[in-house]
Amino acid sequence: MHELSLIANLFEIMEQKAKEKNSKKITYVKLQVGVLSGAVPELLETAFNIYKKETLASEADLEIEKVPLKLKCKDCGALTIKDDLVLNCSSCGSTNLETLEGTDLYLEKMELEIEDS
Ligand SMILES: [Zn+2]
Repeated sequence: MHELSLIANLFEIMEQKAKEKNSKKITYVKLQVGVLSGAVPELLETAFNIYKKETLASEADLEIEKVPLKLKCKDCGALTIKDDLVLNCSSCGSTNLETLEGTDLYLEKMELEIEDS
């Protein structure tokens, strides 16, 4: 499962950040997942829940926001925004497109519990 290695990477980043802030508990995680990132949100959630058990995020809530595909037409300049895979400009039909958003998976937000002492 591709998602499991994505989540493994994500946990490395999250635990590193938590350590920097001297936190022992991650309480909330929000991911942004692009339509073209190659990851399926439902599988990411499953992988997250399997992986989190032995980590600082064992009780963390996960939220996944899907990021639509955003394309800019190099011919007419129009923007095409879609939740699925598109190959043509919605304005002029050109296939000469530049991808602006929708290909990445990244950590949008993370909340930590920080002890006072
Ligand atoms: Zn166009």
